[in-house]
Amino acid sequence: MMMNFDFTPEQEMLRSTVRKFVDKEIMPYIKEWDERGYFDPNIFKRLAELNLMGVCIPEEYGGMGMDYNSLAIVCEELERGDTAFRTAVSVHTGLNSLTLLQWGTEEQKQKYLVPQAKGEKIGAFGLTEPNAGSDVASISTTAVRDGDYYILNGQKTWISLCDIADHFIVFAYTDKSKKHRGISAFIVERTMPGFSSKAIKGKLGIRAGNTGELFFDNVRVPKENLLGKEGEGFKIAMSALDNGRFTVAAGAVGLIMACLEASVKYCHERKTFGKEIGRHQLVQQMIARMEAGLQISRLLVYKVGFLKNQGRRTTREASLAKWIACDFANQAADDAVQIHGAYGYSNEYPVERYLRNSKAPVIYEGTREIHTIIQAEYVLGYRQDKPLRKMLPPWNPDSVKL
Ligand SMILES: Cc1cc2nc3c(=O)[nH]c(=O)nc-3n(C[C@H](O)[C@H](O)[C@H](O)COP(=O)(O)OP(=O)(O)OC[C@H]3O[C@@H](n4cnc5c(N)ncnc54)[C@H](O)[C@@H]3O)c2cc1C
Repeated sequence: MMMNFDFTPEQEMLRSTVRKFVDKEIMPYIKEWDERGYFDPNIFKRLAELNLMGVCIPEEYGGMGMDYNSLAIVCEELERGDTAFRTAVSVHTGLNSLTLLQWGTEEQKQKYLVPQAKGEKIGAFGLTEPNAGSDVASISTTAVRDGDYYILNGQKTWISLCDIADHFIVFAYTDKSKKHRGISAFIVERTMPGFSSKAIKGKLGIRAGNTGELFFDNVRVPKENLLGKEGEGFKIAMSALDNGRFTVAAGAVGLIMACLEASVKYCHERKTFGKEIGRHQLVQQMIARMEAGLQISRLLVYKVGFLKNQGRRTTREASLAKWIACDFANQAADDAVQIHGAYGYSNEYPVERYLRNSKAPVIYEGTREIHTIIQAEYVLGYRQDKPLRKMLPPWNPDSVKL
């Protein structure tokens, strides 16, 4: 396949659709939603109407059948509006739907993936626990086989869409003695007795999003809802993160775009010492850093999409893209506040929200430190990717639904 940096007409159309949606249905309200900590459930309905809830899911499973970089475009444009909406697509499509596509049985795909890709049901991802974030093997949720069911007990925390999602991919130990090889993955429905959730209040950012705890009190999950095989949960979680990190990195590109837009406008409006602040070289340095961050991050993101389109492994590349793009976005948001001076410190301008929102992506789906270690280990030869039993399918260009 030749390298091609041009977008297809379909991708251009997709970008324009999402941009119009964000400008009309998110931008006018986001300041108020962020202040109130309000997550608008109608956003999902509208995203579903626009076929954006399963943009890269094959048409046979209810999606649009577009390529993986089209998912990146959706994430970029949504995060230009607010990180909360990109986060929602990251967990729904990146962490949940693509994991079902990769690891699910045909029955699981029909039952869970199809309604998710159509946006009729919302999916989320429950890995983190109060005592286990970066150190996944420290989870303590258990799943004990009882006839045709597994009985789940435990707690998850910091789960995006905790009160909104219908289906969760949940990780629990089926055999603690096997350490990470004893973790299994399950599809849990909100309506299963013993399941409950509770939002976390007082977040620094992503205030227009829903994040919180999940509780499993003797939840009986049918054995048909085991995703993959018993003991494959750790591999499933890591491969889900390959997809999630791609969407987080793409979103970071959108946040840098938003920082640049706001900063360039302000540079032309604000004058000091008789000239526009954009004429001062130290302000230009911040603008230049944002531009470099934007271009570098984009290349890293689209390379991951390019590899995914061919059905190739992206663990190393997605980690690098996520780490670098989120760091650049965090720096761009800090610079954007600096360029706005004291006005940047108030919510009269959006840049303070960008700075608050830019922090979570440096923490979730692998912290900055974890990605630094991953990259060093690849280079030093301490880490190799072992083949997976199931790979994410490549993009099939014949399956685009327009
Ligand atoms: C807004 C938001 C949404 C989230 N959504 C989800 C979700 O939908 N589903 C989900 O499962 N989780 C979610 N998370 C949780 C997120 O994935 C975890 O917070 C993340 O994995 C880090 O884990 P931790 O917070 O426990 O930090 P810890 O793992 O306790 O780390 C604390 C600090 O120590 C550092 N550290 C840890 N280990 C090492 C090491 N070996 N070397 C060097 N430094 C190290 C870390 O980098 C960090 O700075 C979300 C988090 C946030 C903030």
